[in-house]
Amino acid sequence: MDTENNTNTGAMRDLKSLSKGELIKLMEELGQPAFRVKQVEDWIWNKNASSFDDMTNLPKSLRTELAGKLTLGGVEEVARQVSEDGSRKYLLRLPDGATVECVGMPSGKKLAVCVSSQAGCAMGCAFCATGGAGFTRSLTASEIYDQVMHVRDDFNTRVTSVVFMGQGEPFMNYNNTLAALRKLNDPEQGGIGARHLTVSTCGVIPMIRRFSHEPEQFTLAVSLHSAVQKTRNILMPGVKKYSLLNLYTVMGEYVDRTGRRPTYEYALIGGVNDTRDEMDALCDFCRDTLAHVNLIQLNEVPGSKLKPSTQRKAEDFLNALARVGVEATIRNSRGADIDAACGQLKQRLS
Ligand code: SAH
Ligand code: SF4
Repeated sequence: MDTENNTNTGAMRDLKSLSKGELIKLMEELGQPAFRVKQVEDWIWNKNASSFDDMTNLPKSLRTELAGKLTLGGVEEVARQVSEDGSRKYLLRLPDGATVECVGMPSGKKLAVCVSSQAGCAMGCAFCATGGAGFTRSLTASEIYDQVMHVRDDFNTRVTSVVFMGQGEPFMNYNNTLAALRKLNDPEQGGIGARHLTVSTCGVIPMIRRFSHEPEQFTLAVSLHSAVQKTRNILMPGVKKYSLLNLYTVMGEYVDRTGRRPTYEYALIGGVNDTRDEMDALCDFCRDTLAHVNLIQLNEVPGSKLKPSTQRKAEDFLNALARVGVEATIRNSRGADIDAACGQLKQRLS
């Protein structure tokens, strides 16, 4: 499933898919001085150029040569929704026509961006609009990176954090997700600190293990949603084969290896995962671990039978977790008035 698809536009390669080594080689072949490499990189990774002609400090002849050899992929905005709280949600079209969503969430001087790692998702979670719409394809590293640049340019301000909580399962597109994280972290590209880059996974265990070996201090969130195996199997059929027991073990290994605090996402669904038994199971799963729990009210997906829980239940969960020494927060979902739950803008427009 881990697609290494870097060429999504037929015969011609995309400039953004070239490695640094390949770019250096290309400039040599074209008889260009070495400093052109840095100029080109600046156009694609910092200035977000949308055509070769934008690259005004390159000779015209070089721009024409590049346009004859390569494509310059980018994202094109096809729709947006603006929330009362200032969040903006975008529907972006990729060069092959696939569409993905991303969200910009400003707060004071900070700008958080939520990106998609795949167009659609194959994991089929029962509560998720993306899961219900099926899987199209994985995104390349630069398609993930470009979403962040699009939001940066639209707000005309520095992006201070990125979460991989849009469409798709990042750990089913591991290599491209990692490459995007590294671009976002690189001081000459995104320049965002590793701790401010968060990957959210539904719990693909072999990739959590792999992630714990990466040298950077990226942050990890795991969508738990139930600590009762039977309930979780129904809510998250795509990770049925990875039992909660194995998830518990691998998360212990992750904490031992990295010393970093993981987050568990728990969307409260009325009558499904907000009962007393579910609360006790969640407390047992989290006690004596370093984990932080984010309690979120389910974002209602049109046509779904699943409904959000009550605020009272969320507070009961918070208190129960506190009693066993587990840190937890009740999160208000940003942009609730703009279909902020993953996949909803796309679903509404299609
Ligand atoms: N595939 C990854 C990341 C994308 S989903 C994952 O599942 O973790 C981002 C987050 O939104 C996850 O925690 C997911 O469980 C949650 N989510 C999806 N649909 C939701 C909904 N309707 N209401 C609340 N949270 C939802
Ligand atoms: Fe995919 Fe995450 Fe949605 Fe599940 S919650 S279907 S893993 S995007």
